Amino acid sequence: VTTFDGKAVALFGLGGSGLATARALVAGGARVTAWDDNPDSVAKAAAEGIGTGDLRHADWKDFSAFVLSPGVPLTHPKPHWTVDLAKAAGVDVIGDVELFVRERRAHAPDCPLIAITGTNGKSTTTALIAHTLKSCGRDTQLGGNIGTAVLTLDPPAADRFYVVECSSYQIDLAPSLDPSAGILLNLTPDHLDRHGSMQQYADIKAQLVLGSDTAIVGVDDAFCEAIADRVALSGKSVIRIARHRKLGEGFFAEGAAIMRSEGGIADLFADLDGIQTLRGSHNAQNAAAAIAACLTVGVSPDDIRAGLQSFPGLKHRMQPVGRMGGTVFVNDSKATNADAAAPALSSYERIYWIAGGVAKEGGVTSLSSFFPKIARAYLIGEAAPAFAATLGELVPHEISGTLEQAVMRAAVDAAADEGAGPAAVLLSPACASFDQYKNFEVRGDAFVAHVAAIDGMAMLI
Ligand code: ADP
Repeated sequence: VTTFDGKAVALFGLGGSGLATARALVAGGARVTAWDDNPDSVAKAAAEGIGTGDLRHADWKDFSAFVLSPGVPLTHPKPHWTVDLAKAAGVDVIGDVELFVRERRAHAPDCPLIAITGTNGKSTTTALIAHTLKSCGRDTQLGGNIGTAVLTLDPPAADRFYVVECSSYQIDLAPSLDPSAGILLNLTPDHLDRHGSMQQYADIKAQLVLGSDTAIVGVDDAFCEAIADRVALSGKSVIRIARHRKLGEGFFAEGAAIMRSEGGIADLFADLDGIQTLRGSHNAQNAAAAIAACLTVGVSPDDIRAGLQSFPGLKHRMQPVGRMGGTVFVNDSKATNADAAAPALSSYERIYWIAGGVAKEGGVTSLSSFFPKIARAYLIGEAAPAFAATLGELVPHEISGTLEQAVMRAAVDAAADEGAGPAAVLLSPACASFDQYKNFEVRGDAFVAHVAAIDGMAMLI
């Protein structure tokens, strides 16, 4: 990052992306003063030659910027002390995405940047766009909230495509974010602990599309619809996306068909039927947004359709991992609450459901509309007794205890019911994993291992 060459920059938070940011600033000639509450992180940075110092005692008026890492509270329940100090001294508080966009503006302002946000579907949409660009030979850089810190990607260059997933936090700390194509998928109440009100949360997410050359907005919820109108009023181009209704202009889903509407006339653009990794109307929304973004940056319709067809999907999110006869085994370990389990439950017709772990408030009561599709439930972890009580007489169920036991039992039952038609053995636990696993990824990997151990299984991964 050369935009702070010779300048003094304060940085707080020396975890993975904070450290990457500090390195990039130092490499670009900035005089960095970095700090973290964890002395080990400070020592590690200092050992690499990164300037460190307790920011409580620093002279804040010297700093050109204050770079904050993800994870440091900006607002709620109260701002971190560093944010108070920076604001009191009139120093800009920014994040790594802001450093990246300034770098892009300085060195390759025309390089395509696609930024993606929304409450749900960000990672899927980001991965789908990156996959499509890579598949047709574009130099593609994938990063941001999805994993790789943006400042560790290859530096901006004319023909390099950036696909960057942005959390609301990253948007809040990137006031000059100006993507070529910006996607806002949807907005539902989430992370309100951090952002105060829903309106405040929506206002932050809106910044991403308001700054975009072309805004792509999912208009299925009222907040996003209002934001699409705001962008249109500002004179920028907007492509609207809908999964629940037809549009006269934009892209909308009709079952698995993604339709493109122009001047009130709708044509089939792509058919998702049979694409296992893009099942469900939520994925139709993700695919429609990806299509609009890829078209915006110049990918041909045929290359886009090929990208959709070959999308390998993301691990742990409705990921088909194995097949035995007419039964598909699906890893949806990422579904750590009832809301997140709903798309998977809605995507299959005859379900052997593995659920449980550490439940969120309300358990699985909100999923009752799916209960008729559940052939049997296999309950694991702490939540098993409570879930058993909710399922009661409505859904046949058993307390399996462990994931291994649940997989074995579900596989036996699904095989015995082969004649009943296509089925899914679905791990979509509607629970956090930490009673039995380190995190949802480890839980998902364990599921895959148990599935792979079944005799006669055809693995899909
Ligand atoms: P994020 O990165 O926003 O957390 P992901 O793409 O990782 O989203 O998807 C996480 C889960 O959210 C998926 O397993 C699915 O259950 C659900 N989901 C995905 N896309 C959408 C969408 N467009 N609308 C609602 N829910 C979605």
